[in-house]
This record gives sequence, C-alpha cells and structure tokens, in this order.
Amino acid sequence: MPIFLVFGLIAACLPIDWPEPPFEPAREVAVALSGGAVALVLLVAVGLRTWVVRAVRRDPGRRIEVGRAYARWRRALFFVNIGTAAGCVLALGWGWYAQRAFVMEWNGRPTLAPFAELGVPLPYFVVLFACWVIYYDAERALHEARGYDRRPFAPRLAYLLHNLRQFALMVMLPVALIVTQQTLTRFAPEATRSDVYRIASLAVVPLLLLFMPLLMKPLLGLRSMPAGETRDRLEALAKRLNFRCTDFLLWPTHGAAANALIAGLLPRVRYVVFTDRIIEDLPPDELDAVFGHEVGHAKHGHIWLYAGFLSLSLAVLAALLILLDQQMRATDTWLLLVPVVVTAGYLFVVFGALSRRCERQADVFGCRAVSCSDPACTGHGDATEYPRGGAGLCPTGIRTFVRALERVGDLHGLTPDGPERRSLGALVRGAWAWVRHWLHAPMPRRIAYLRAVIERPALERRFQRRLFAFKCVLMLGLLAALIALGRFVGWEKLYEQL
Ligand SMILES: [Zn+2]
Ligand SMILES: [Zn+2]
Repeated sequence: MPIFLVFGLIAACLPIDWPEPPFEPAREVAVALSGGAVALVLLVAVGLRTWVVRAVRRDPGRRIEVGRAYARWRRALFFVNIGTAAGCVLALGWGWYAQRAFVMEWNGRPTLAPFAELGVPLPYFVVLFACWVIYYDAERALHEARGYDRRPFAPRLAYLLHNLRQFALMVMLPVALIVTQQTLTRFAPEATRSDVYRIASLAVVPLLLLFMPLLMKPLLGLRSMPAGETRDRLEALAKRLNFRCTDFLLWPTHGAAANALIAGLLPRVRYVVFTDRIIEDLPPDELDAVFGHEVGHAKHGHIWLYAGFLSLSLAVLAALLILLDQQMRATDTWLLLVPVVVTAGYLFVVFGALSRRCERQADVFGCRAVSCSDPACTGHGDATEYPRGGAGLCPTGIRTFVRALERVGDLHGLTPDGPERRSLGALVRGAWAWVRHWLHAPMPRRIAYLRAVIERPALERRFQRRLFAFKCVLMLGLLAALIALGRFVGWEKLYEQL
C-alpha cells in the first residue's frame, strides 16, 4: 500500500491553495474541527483495542475469530484514517491553517518555514503514531493467546521503533526528497536554477538506488548475520549459483515479519536481508529456496531493469507535463495535483504489471536453486548433485519452493477465510487484495502457477519467452516515447523541467 500513501503525502505537501475553514473565526475553527476529527478516529481505535484485549482474555479459544474481526476492522480503519486526514485538509481548513501557522520572515516577506509543508499532512502523522501506541496491546494480546509461538512479543518501544523505521524508509524518504526540493526553491531560488543543482537532482534517484543498501542498514537496524551453520549454508549456495554480495544481513523484527529481500545494483554494495522469523522458522532447504528467489532478482537483472524503467518513465512523464503546459497555460494551483495522480496511477498499473512478472521469474529461479538436473526426479537426498548456476528445474525443487511459500503465508496468517460467498464484502476484499498485491501476485496464484509447471514444464519456457518480449516492448516503447516527446517539446525545455 505505501505507493498511494507516498503520493497522497506528496500531494498534501505541494503548494496548493487549500480551501478555507467552513466558518469564522477561521484559525480556531480549523484547529478545533481537525483536532476533533482526529480525536474521534482515535477513540474508535481505543474501542477496538479494548474489545480485542478483553475478548481474548475472557476466552482465549476465540482468538482466531477475534483476530479475523480485528484484521477486518484495522483494514477498514486504515481507509478511515486516511479519509479523516484528507477531510481535515480539504474540508475542515487544516491545510489552509498549516500554510499560515508555520510561517517565518524571509527577505522581508512572510515565507513558509523550511519543511513546514509537512504540517499539512500532520493530522495523518498524529493518527498513525497514536494508532501504533494504541494497537500495541491488541497485537500483544493476540500473540500471547496464540500460545504456540514461544517467542515473547516485542517490547512496546521496540514495536514502535520497528514501525517507525519501516515508515521512514518506505514512505518518508521520497516525500522528504520532494519537500527538500521545495524548501530549497523557497530559500535559495538562484541555486536551484544552476546547472550543478539540476545535475545533482537528476542524479539523486539513481544514486539513491545505488546506495540504498548502505542507508537501509542503519535505518532498519540491520545486523551482519553471525557466523554459523545458516551463514555457511547460504554462502555455499551463493557460490554454487555464481552470486556475489557484500554481506548477509539479519533484520531483527521480534518475530513480526517472515521476509527476505535483496537491495543494491552492484555486487560491491549489495545485501541480502533475512528477518529473524524466516531464519528461525524455515527448514534449511526452504530457506535455500527463498534465498534462491532473491538471487533470481539479481541474476535476471531486475534491479537494473527497475532503475531503468523508473528513470525513463519519470522523464517521459516530465515531457508529457511540458506538452500539457504548452497547450493549456493554466494558473490554478490545483493543477499541481495532475502530475501526482497521473504518476501514481501509471506506476500502479505499469510498474505493477512489470513487478508481478519479475516476481514470478524470481520464483522460478528460487525453484531452480533447489533443483537437481533430473526433470523427472522423485525426491532429494544427501547424495543429490545440484548443477551449478541453477541450471536444473525438477519437481522436487518446485515442491520445496512451494512449501516455503505456503509456510511464509501461514506465518503471516494469510490462510484464507474459508469459502467466499458472492457478496459486497467479498468484492471489497478482492479489490483490497488486488491493491495490496500490486507488486506480488497473491500467494495462491503464485503457488498454483508453480504447481502447473510441474505438470507442464513447457509453461515455464513459454513464460520466459513472453516476459523477455514484454520487457523489450516496454523499454523500447518508453525510449521511443521519450525521443518523440523530447523532439516535440525541445530537449532544452525537458532538461529544465527535470
Ligand atoms: Zn521478490
Ligand atoms: Zn530433483
């Protein structure tokens, strides 16, 4: 979900003339109404927390039912929270107020203070942080009622810090870049028109992608994986797959997440990260398969592909904006929202389609990482020989990977709610699943595909051929669009816009 949150927050930080409060005295009304709205949604959150804690304490046997109801409510309240914050800015006059409250004198004129645009989405930040504090007890109660997990639940501060760190990296980093740029434009307008600044701001996205791994380590509190059996095993597998990285990192989440990820374009600044839970709860062969999936992203050049796709797409979108501007010449500040909405929609649809296909390719490589060279094998033992570079694909390898996926799904409590009835609720849940899975296909779809490959290996070859064609068409199409638009609007103009 972060994508819509990121673009929503960016939209809130733009210099748009937000509407005035509904009645006088304007400032007091804006503060009172927005404060009231925030207090109201927090009250609902406290109510939900209290119900969960009491229900589970009274009858631990109801934990599954309570857990499901809690998850449903949290999902609905996620949208209520965003809607409330948007309502504060759009209807209750909070945006208008924030643009007047955080002002300072600069060159004899009242100017919005540095980074003060973050005051506009402030109601959302308040609700978000307060919700982490409020829901902690509900999450802990559910965790303790489950019983089978011997791990103690994270202490309150660690839980808050875990959420805060993820939010900072996934959501606030892009928002901070935009806000920094706006602050510089306000306070050093000459500098932002210089060539050095333009080149620096063009380079910031690729540089960030390149050095993201170095940033991630302190931001998420990652540690180098200690020497031992697991590390030795991963290193041996990396060697067999001809894969190089700087380090294997451990992400301490107090058991909150079972995940792995890869970050970094170059082997020298590339990390593979495993959460504590996935290391502890997955059998060795399944951990190999998960690691194979991450290696697959590097082997198939996905990280480079994403970097190239994002750079090209942003350049094309910028050129489109100039074209629009040349045709319309409007002055309404609300039009600033158009590029934000278009970019969000474009990334959701096109990047989503690309990412889901690449994830499937990485899934297949994960199967290959634990496959032998016999396409009809019936099981693996100590004597099984695994080919170098993940050259084989066998039924046992695929089944190992599928088991790993199922286990990760179980650890995250993704077991389906039972047979779905055709109802509005089912429709909403389906839409929500689709939005949540814009980067990864839903777990059952991934598993069903891999099972189908066991029956019909030709499916895999067809998929690889089609994906290659898809990547070529996408990148060449973007390149052609950029060249055509660049000629049309003028390269000089395009460079200025960037
Ligand atoms: Zn992946
Ligand atoms: Zn095999």
